[in-house]
Amino acid sequence: MAEEFIPLMIAPEGRSGPAMWFAFQGARIAVLNDADKPALPCCADLAEHGLTPVRSQYLGLYQGTHCYAVEIRESEPLPAGWSALGLRDLFGLVETQLAALSGRAYQILDWDRNHQYCSRCGTQTEPRPDERARACPSCGFTSYPPISPAIMILVTRGRELLLARKPVWPDGRFSALAGFVEPGEMLEDTVVRETREEVGVEIRNIRYFGSQPWPFPHSLMIAFTAEYAGGEISPDGVEIAEARWFDIEHLPKLPPSISISRRLIDTVSGRIARGESVTGHPL
Ligand SMILES: [Zn+2]
Repeated sequence: MAEEFIPLMIAPEGRSGPAMWFAFQGARIAVLNDADKPALPCCADLAEHGLTPVRSQYLGLYQGTHCYAVEIRESEPLPAGWSALGLRDLFGLVETQLAALSGRAYQILDWDRNHQYCSRCGTQTEPRPDERARACPSCGFTSYPPISPAIMILVTRGRELLLARKPVWPDGRFSALAGFVEPGEMLEDTVVRETREEVGVEIRNIRYFGSQPWPFPHSLMIAFTAEYAGGEISPDGVEIAEARWFDIEHLPKLPPSISISRRLIDTVSGRIARGESVTGHPL
């Protein structure tokens, strides 16, 4: 996203030309139903379509076009030819950068809506002119859009991957282990703790794989690989219903491709199948 999107905070004055609108009704984003895939509205003003946003945040420039995150009342009917999609559905239908921008727009709007009053003293907050923040004029407490880091860990043992199933997932779907970072932890601490807590396994050679913002509601998934170092799999029975070793040739039903978990599993399986190291570095 770095090359094509320039994050900015102060909206241009006297803008001419169309802008791109990330317009949300609750957690659903308003899109135009084009022939084969949805398109984000691009127009000078949403009023052209009879829409009146109740909240607006300027996001920056995407391919030179000004971008705004706006909230529309859930009761407001969308124009003909428009529909409201869940973010997860949108993620599978638009290019990666627009999906990421939609997630950014949602997180900023959601934060703005949830921090209209000071969480310390209850006074109405005000936007800060110099940064994306809301400050309390009474006690000075300032809130920023929150981000909750969470780790994902794919443990390997030779040609096998350790995959687990959460109780709420559809039958037969497995994925890598995951969990939230606790205050005071380094990411490598979280990886070891979560693996131990969820499946009772010890790991070594923890390596960074990649990351993905996950706006449900404001996570940042940070994915790692690690090698099995000992212990028998014993699911905790609460967060993990079932966990097993799977040969890369016989993987179960996996998460959809919009998530980093799928990219992690596909990439590592491919490396093992080609006889490469798990990290992609020469053996
Ligand atoms: Zn306050």
